[in-house]
Amino acid sequence: MEKAPALHLEGVRRSYVQGETELAILRGVTFSVWPGESVALIAPSGAGKSTLLHMAGLLEHPDGGEVFINGRPTAKLGDAARTSIRRDEIGFVYQFHHLLPEFTASENVILPQMIAGLDRREAKKRANELLAFLGLGERLEHRPSELSGGEQQRVAIARAVANAPRLLLADEPTGNLDPKTADHVFGTLSKLVEATKLAAIIATHNLELAKRMTRRVTLREGKIVELE
Ligand code: ADP
Repeated sequence: MEKAPALHLEGVRRSYVQGETELAILRGVTFSVWPGESVALIAPSGAGKSTLLHMAGLLEHPDGGEVFINGRPTAKLGDAARTSIRRDEIGFVYQFHHLLPEFTASENVILPQMIAGLDRREAKKRANELLAFLGLGERLEHRPSELSGGEQQRVAIARAVANAPRLLLADEPTGNLDPKTADHVFGTLSKLVEATKLAAIIATHNLELAKRMTRRVTLREGKIVELE
């Protein structure tokens, strides 16, 4: 096993103030995700799944506790350092794909690599290999509007891992898809996690799909609880 988990949360707390009341959403979340693990985060709406993913993705600061990315504590880092960790070490997938509509599938996966400094030829080679791995070898030159919902979401996954992050955070990535398509997207995602030793957290409502992941957790009273 690797020396450090891709993600470790230690006593992470987060509250939101709503009018007069303070809502304690995360009340000391402690858990780790190791390379090659896919963790389904299953909890009802409003339980704090997105909040947890925002903390893990360094998009928001916790009120207390510490977030370790690949063994490195992040609480005391400045914005520039947090941004560079987010860019280099973390991939994000959302419920809606947010692909650039005027670019092809391949270009959507090439762009983040060029932004990270790779030359276009290298970036294209990796983009097309990734898309082929996700079953989109015949769709490289299609624009998002020419792709099905499941295909669009697989392009979004390819884009999220284009710069080979160690950690993938997905917020209801199949929430917008029909069950059969969702099943297929989950299948390709698990295959990718296994093949690349990525660590992934996938927030979902879908218990059937969650069974395909290596672990299942929920949020109960602001803490992480392992499920069967
Ligand atoms: P989930 O993703 O599980 O549906 P969220 O993490 O989005 O839950 O939200 C958890 C709770 O925190 C909700 O009750 C929500 O209203 C509240 N919340 C989330 N973000 C904010 C915010 N920026 N300001 C105030 N309350 C918020």
